[in-house]
Parts: sequence; structure tokens; C-alpha cells
Amino acid sequence: MSAKIVIHAFIHDELKIQARKTYPYECCGILGGTNGLINTVYWINNIHYNPYINFLMEPYELLSALKEFSKKQLVWRGVVHSHPLSAAIPSQEDLEFIPNLSPGMTYLIYSLSERVTNGYLTTNTSLQPVKVTYLR
Ligand SMILES: [Zn+2]
Repeated sequence: MSAKIVIHAFIHDELKIQARKTYPYECCGILGGTNGLINTVYWINNIHYNPYINFLMEPYELLSALKEFSKKQLVWRGVVHSHPLSAAIPSQEDLEFIPNLSPGMTYLIYSLSERVTNGYLTTNTSLQPVKVTYLR
């Protein structure tokens, strides 16, 4: 497991826009790329019944985004979402979701209130903070 995440900077720019667009709800999406670089994002509608502090990706959109990854021969690298009013640290709900993801996936959280983005890598049971590099 590499201890660094490399993401194309346009994804970070889009994340900030998307978080404002969906405010006061959380925005969410999935990240794809190659093993070395995350260069693709698909934004998915958040259909959680309490979208202010949670996200649940609309399943048909999620499936079609995953199919797009396969078509483009990209790997599903991770999940991205915003916290409209709280810090960019994993919530209890985030931590409960982690066992559903493979270890070594990127988990990106943007805090709209604090204007901070933090990156994590999934382990079997938790999230490990990792430095994120944005490529211009
Ligand atoms: Zn969260």
C-alpha cells in the first residue's frame, strides 16, 4: 500500500464547486484512474434520507459510473464526498461504511466550512490519513 495519493488537480477544483452546488447536502462521487494517478471523477446523486451529514450514492448512477471505468480501462480508486458543516475528518457513518470498500482505496473528504481537504486510505477496519498530491 503506497502512503501517498496522487490526484489530478482538476478533480480537487471540481470537488470544491460540487460541494457548493449541493450545499447544504453532502456531495459524493467515485474516483478512478490508473494505479499511480487518480484522474477521473463521477459525481453521483446523494439519496440519503439525512443528506446534511451522510451520503448514499444513487445505485443506478453508481453502477453506470463503474461501467464507465471498465470501458475506459480505469481502476476504481476511491470515494469522494463533502462535509458541508463539519471538519474533513471521518464521521461515525464514514467509519461504518469502510468495511464495504477494499483496503487501499482512497477516501477523500472536503470540508466546505473549513475549506480543507483530507485524504485517507482504507484499511480493513478504518481510515489512515495520507498526504495528497495534486498534479497540475
Ligand atoms: Zn463523511
